[in-house]
Amino acid sequence: MNMNTNKTVSSTRRTGCHCALRVFKLVTNNLNRLLLTGGLLLALLFAPSCQTSNSAGAGQAMFPPARTKEQQAAMTPQQALAELEAGNARFVTGRPRVRNLPAEVRATASGQYPFAVILSCIDSRQSAEVVFDQGIGDVFSARVAGNVLNNDILGSMEFACRISGAKLIAVIGHSNCGAIKGAIDDVQLGHLTGLLKKIKPAIDAVPADVQPRTSKNPEFVDKVAEANVRLVMRQIRERSPILRQMIDEGKIELVGGMYDVSTGNVRFFPN
Ligand SMILES: [Zn+2]
Repeated sequence: MNMNTNKTVSSTRRTGCHCALRVFKLVTNNLNRLLLTGGLLLALLFAPSCQTSNSAGAGQAMFPPARTKEQQAAMTPQQALAELEAGNARFVTGRPRVRNLPAEVRATASGQYPFAVILSCIDSRQSAEVVFDQGIGDVFSARVAGNVLNNDILGSMEFACRISGAKLIAVIGHSNCGAIKGAIDDVQLGHLTGLLKKIKPAIDAVPADVQPRTSKNPEFVDKVAEANVRLVMRQIRERSPILRQMIDEGKIELVGGMYDVSTGNVRFFPN
C-alpha cells in the first residue's frame, strides 16, 4: 500500500514534470520565434542607420559623391576657397570626412573635376590632401621645396585652370620651413642651390626691423616664408598672361596661405 501510494505520487510527479517541461518548451520555442521576428524587424528598421554608423562614424560627415563636370563648372572661386577652409577646419579639429578611398577611386576613374590647384612645399608634414581633408579627384597638388615657382609648375596651373576647370590657385607656405632656412643660410648643394636662389628675394622683402635675420630666429624664418608665398603669387600673375586674365575676369581666384606645423592650421591671407 505504501509502495502503491508511493508509485502513484511518483507517477503524478513524473506527469507534472512532463507537463512543466512541455510548457517550458512551448514558451521557449515561442520566445525564440518572437525574438527572431523582433530581431529581424529591428534589423530591417535600423539597417540604413547601422550602415551609416559603420561607414561614417557617429556625428561625422558622410563620404561625398564624386564631383561632376557640371558641379565643378557651377562652383565659384569663393566656394572653392570656402571648401579648403572648411576642410582644414575638419583636419584641425580631428573630424575629417570618413572616406571610402577605393570607392572614390572607382567613382573618379572615368574623369576628374578638381576644384583647386595647390602649390605647397614637399615638407612631409604638409600633404595638401591631408591638411585640407580632400579626397581622390578633389585637388591638383603641386609640391616642391619652398613652394617655389618654375615654368613647369606654371604650365601645370594653366592646365589645371584653363583646361581642367579648377577655380582656385592656392600657394601655401609653412612655418619652420627647411628650404626657407636653407635660403637664409645660403646653402650650396647641387641642384638645391638654384632652387634656393628663387627664395632669396623673399629674404630682402622682410622689413629690416625683424631681427636677428638668421635661420635661428623662427619669427624671421616664418616672415620670409610668408614673403615667399606673396612673391610666388606675384610671379604667377606676372609670368602667366593666361592665368592673369582668368583672375582679372573673376573666373579663378589666387590666394596665399601659411600652414602652421605646430597646430595644423592654415591661415589664408586677406585678399
Ligand atoms: Zn618647407
